[in-house]
Amino acid sequence: MKQLSTLREMERFITPLTENGTSIGFVPTMGALHEGHLSLIRRAKAENQLTLCSVFVNPIQFNNPEDLAKYPRTLSTDAKMLEKVGCDVLFSPGAEELYPQGTTESLELDWGMLDKVMEGKFRPGHFKGVAIVVKKLFSITHPTRAYFGKKDYQQLAVIRRMVEQLRLPVTIIPCDTVREPDGLAMSSRNLRLTIAERQVAPVIYEVLCQVREKAGKIPVKDLREWAIRKIQEHPSIRVEYFEIGDKETLIPLENWSLKSRAVAFIAAFLGDVRLIDNLELF
Ligand code: AMP
Repeated sequence: MKQLSTLREMERFITPLTENGTSIGFVPTMGALHEGHLSLIRRAKAENQLTLCSVFVNPIQFNNPEDLAKYPRTLSTDAKMLEKVGCDVLFSPGAEELYPQGTTESLELDWGMLDKVMEGKFRPGHFKGVAIVVKKLFSITHPTRAYFGKKDYQQLAVIRRMVEQLRLPVTIIPCDTVREPDGLAMSSRNLRLTIAERQVAPVIYEVLCQVREKAGKIPVKDLREWAIRKIQEHPSIRVEYFEIGDKETLIPLENWSLKSRAVAFIAAFLGDVRLIDNLELF
């Protein structure tokens, strides 16, 4: 596996490949890789001639400096894992490579409600930071296809909207969430859970599954309240939001008239670890 860390190296490497029409599958990550990330790499590998993974902890998508400082950084283990699944290129630039002028860039797009609800509401500026870095990474790596996990459903919707509005020449491929055997969605943040918190964490997915069972049978508002109550039965979890929203606009549903579009979304704290998850309900 090739390891590149500067724009210049990447440009030199990628230009001949784009010129000869090599299909490039790109998986952007922030590292601390796990099976969830590797499933995206495997899919990219199956569908493209070259697979490229980036590891970059993007400072401008963290609205909480403490969260940024605590984000796990495990580049040498990440490289070994990528090598093992047959990734062709690891791109791990430093912040000065991607933000040579500092981090004050902006990107004005019509996000609709995408950056105002749920993650957008509770993490102001987060999606703008994500969109800026992904757009930059696309322009550096020239992917044919880029792979994003449904685990970050709202992020996927934001990226799709950006690609559509800027008419970027890349196909976005959504990939299913990979879970631990007990249902907990894999996340780099799980590493920070205490043993006791880790034992409680699967309740998030359990309740999402129960919500899927009840969806369409009781009013949306009642189901939402039920879910929050059910999770809060565990004193060590604090629900930040629980919403049932439209799969594209993410706008909260008021009834089940468009039920085939319904997705349940949750963000919850266990101690100071913030976990998110979601489930398509139909
Ligand atoms: P991150 O490193 O957290 O920014 O994630 C990089 C990519 O991996 C994003 O597209 C995530 O949605 C995806 N991802 C993270 N966790 C999972 C998971 N458990 N299953 C599938 N994809 C995931």
